[in-house]
Amino acid sequence: MDEILDREVSRKVSTLRELIPFLRPYSRQILGAFCALVVTSTVTLMFGQGLRLLVDQGFSGGSKDLLENAILVFVGLTILLAAGTFARFYLVTSVGERAAADIRNKVFEHVVRLHPGFFEINLASEIQSRITTDTTLVQTVIGSSVSLALRNLFILIGGVILMLVSNFKLSLLVVLAAPLAIGSILLFGRRVRGLSRDSQTGLARVGTQVSETLGNIKVVQASRREGLDAKRFSVKVQDALKVALRRVRVRSYLIALVMLVVFGAFALMLWVGGQDVLLGRTSSGELAAFVFYAFLVAGSVGAISEVLTELQRAAGAMERLLELLSSESEITDPENPRPLRASNKVRLGVENLSFRYATRPEVQVLRDVSFEVGAGEHIAIVGPSGAGKSTLFDLLLRFYDPTKGCVRIDGINIRELSLSDLRSRIALVPQMPVLFTGSIAENIAYVRPGATQAEVRQVADAAHVTAFSEQLPQGLDTEVGEGGMQLSGGQRQRVAVARAMLKRPSLLLLDEATSALDSESEFFVQQAIAQLTETCTSMVIAHRLATVRDAKRILLFESGDLLDSGSHMELSGRSELYARLAKLQFRQAA
Ligand code: ATP
Repeated sequence: MDEILDREVSRKVSTLRELIPFLRPYSRQILGAFCALVVTSTVTLMFGQGLRLLVDQGFSGGSKDLLENAILVFVGLTILLAAGTFARFYLVTSVGERAAADIRNKVFEHVVRLHPGFFEINLASEIQSRITTDTTLVQTVIGSSVSLALRNLFILIGGVILMLVSNFKLSLLVVLAAPLAIGSILLFGRRVRGLSRDSQTGLARVGTQVSETLGNIKVVQASRREGLDAKRFSVKVQDALKVALRRVRVRSYLIALVMLVVFGAFALMLWVGGQDVLLGRTSSGELAAFVFYAFLVAGSVGAISEVLTELQRAAGAMERLLELLSSESEITDPENPRPLRASNKVRLGVENLSFRYATRPEVQVLRDVSFEVGAGEHIAIVGPSGAGKSTLFDLLLRFYDPTKGCVRIDGINIRELSLSDLRSRIALVPQMPVLFTGSIAENIAYVRPGATQAEVRQVADAAHVTAFSEQLPQGLDTEVGEGGMQLSGGQRQRVAVARAMLKRPSLLLLDEATSALDSESEFFVQQAIAQLTETCTSMVIAHRLATVRDAKRILLFESGDLLDSGSHMELSGRSELYARLAKLQFRQAA
């Protein structure tokens, strides 16, 4: 049984080996810290000898000079200890901070490239917790636990040797107590580790709800869900608390047990040792030094047991981080990407396209869809909600790969293009434009960070962003707030259109807003879009009557099938579904 436990512990803690690559850049600091650690441990151990001399020669010998000398040595050692401790603490802690920062960067850099489907299974908030909480745990390990463990290991080994040398009989007592203490550590450690993992997961769930509820506060309050949501939250907090308390309890048992064993052994040792002093078999200085060492050794065993559970917690954290780092993107560049002809209007071919989401394989979202869009053509897509229109756009951008069939741009299967090449040519204007914290100008330049001020201004003018930004105190440099909260829906849309213009796409994918903008906003947005569609091939998911009327060709989708295609007049005449959609769903431009 013990063997199994032992193996489990070492296997888990060995996960921390994966930290080595992150520590390599800081090997000089680590070497320095190691030297400092050797110095401080040695000095600590030397204090025992100082104590022996002080008691035996200073006090018992009755010599004032010897006492003064001993005190001087003491002071010298103390200064050395302080300096060593400073160096060790500073070096080790800063390496911990740096390595944790590196890990955060590496994990973020990795996950930000993963395929979107990954985030349907792994919630963003959970990943956020890993990048913050788990890296903090790992940071503690590098920044203190490892050095603490090493220091205590040195002291443990040195202390045991010095004890054995100075009094063999008493040492045996201490050495006998050690397996008891270590056994309990191993026994409880495993449980603590499991509970730590559960506790982290519980906390992540708490975090998820905070961001979900607070991120949608208006919906929450309008639905009067505050109380219910708070209750649901409290259940999650309670669950996390239960696990945390269980962990605390197991840990407390562990600490108490170790204390009991250690101090029991001490009492026995003082009793046996005290009798030896009384009988004159050993000097008081020797007993004093021995007790000092025994304290050091016991302290280090205690510290190591603490650190061990910490190491195990960190190993759990590291495991979760490695899990993220080893997740591979399902959407990757081909080995030898084919170049795309530089043209501002591409030809699009969709061939027998079928698709199911991996998270919901029983639903066929697109079924054998085929159509062509000529260079510079402008087509509209219509269909009831859930028909697969947005999914089609996602496939064009290769956020997912089709289960069957393919998409071709200028005749080349998009899977043969580099993702960067493909996506640099397509601009997507989503139904709900996404803005990031920053200024209006920064949001426009989001798609081309290198864009000059003049370029940004030009598209801002064209997309009628300037029309409203001029009214704002800082013009284009006005901050939009988190998620663009400080702009109206129509303003956000104009920013999104300006962004698409700046990209100068060869293919424009536009998902029209369903919510009606005020007529002025709508007019400006439409004008801006009309300019943009002049310059490239475009597909628009239409929700407005004007859009379908303008389009030469409309694709009609229903439940994943491409039912029909034709002009507004043609479809109105021959498709019942289309006629119904036209009547009920298309917004009349104001
Ligand atoms: P709407 O006009 O309402 O936006 P749509 O035609 O754009 O609808 P899609 O968003 O493409 O429809 O969705 C098509 C189907 O795929 C729906 O049944 C939807 O429930 C499902 N679906 C969409 N996204 C996912 C996803 N990430 N995972 C699983 N199923 C999804």
